[in-house]
Amino acid sequence: MPSVITVPPEAQASPNFNAEAATNAYLAEIPASAKARSDAYFEGGYWMILWDFVYGVIVALLLLNLRWSAGMRNLAERLTRFKPLQTAIYWIEYIVLTTLLVFPLTMYEGYFREHKYGLATQTFGPWLGDQLKGLGIGVVLGGVIVVILFGIVRRLPRTWWIWGAVVTTVFSVFVALIAPVYLFPIFNTIKPLNDPKITEPILSMARANGIPAKDVYQIDASKQSTRMSANVSGFGSTMRITLNDNLLRRGSPEEIQAVMGHEMGHYVLNHVYKGIMYEFIEIVVGFAFLQWALGWSLARWGEKWQIHGIGDTAVLPLVVLLVSIFFFVMTPLDNTFTRTQEYEADMYGLNTSRQPDGFAQAAIHLGEYRKMNPGPVEEWIFYDHPSGRNRIFAAMRWKAENLKLFATPQN
Ligand SMILES: [Zn+2]
Repeated sequence: MPSVITVPPEAQASPNFNAEAATNAYLAEIPASAKARSDAYFEGGYWMILWDFVYGVIVALLLLNLRWSAGMRNLAERLTRFKPLQTAIYWIEYIVLTTLLVFPLTMYEGYFREHKYGLATQTFGPWLGDQLKGLGIGVVLGGVIVVILFGIVRRLPRTWWIWGAVVTTVFSVFVALIAPVYLFPIFNTIKPLNDPKITEPILSMARANGIPAKDVYQIDASKQSTRMSANVSGFGSTMRITLNDNLLRRGSPEEIQAVMGHEMGHYVLNHVYKGIMYEFIEIVVGFAFLQWALGWSLARWGEKWQIHGIGDTAVLPLVVLLVSIFFFVMTPLDNTFTRTQEYEADMYGLNTSRQPDGFAQAAIHLGEYRKMNPGPVEEWIFYDHPSGRNRIFAAMRWKAENLKLFATPQN
């Protein structure tokens, strides 16, 4: 992908400006080899969704049918009589064993495949280090929620699924809230950005949109990957704007402003709160399904798997199996919810940054790992952002309808 994306002649303001032609001119800036690579990477991602799902199902069925899950429960019960501690011990056994069993796939997907497409920047050692940090976080945070949920199931055998949904939602909001301040720094360095040329236009845009940000931060994402990104995170006093260094290094000033306008759109349009509502509804439905499906499966195979009921920690692989079926089926709906919000943020960003060409440049840069021009059904099922082509077209349509903002070159 070209590092600096120029504004093609067809996309420059002129009395004959045409959004469709401008879009095609931008798409034509992508070399055929880069397009082929990005299409292959993204389409491979569709298969990864399937393989991750199938592999996870196989691991869960192994743990149940070989009665390894029952064995891990028995060990936890021998070590302590205190129920919450038994659950915590089982969780550690479970997460370590499943992480090891899934590791070949994790390695292919997270390391070799990323390197093959030139998206990763880490050597194997540091990559493995990040995996271990992730496992550590999984042990602690996963342990907390699993102990709480099993406590609820044991005390409220009839209504656990409602309380479980409430607690799971609250917990995930809590994790999202602490992540920028406590989790991200475990992997990356985040520091204030001291370049007024970049921060001033961003902070000015923030003030104009009622966003209470005083600083702009940068994160050294290039430590792991070549992907460009930015975000506006937190609520109230924890609110912060963060740009990753790939965007800072490769994006034009117009491009950075367009991206920041988009991120501010998420904030002003309350996408975080709407996302929490959506997630809560989905989790309630998921827990209702879980309650029914657990009863159904345990009645058939509970004895064979040596699981004594839904309050028995040995049931966990079955829970994970059912939850993964649920989310696998929900994939198109989840993507469509997110993509709809992303489109709203795109429109907001164009209106606020007034940088349609910067926005088109960003869409092309993001096209390094996202197929630019999918079919409509493909976009509906697999895309959690509008496709690059649709994003560029929306920007060029906006430009066509606001041509007076752009000086027409003389003669
Ligand atoms: Zn977004």
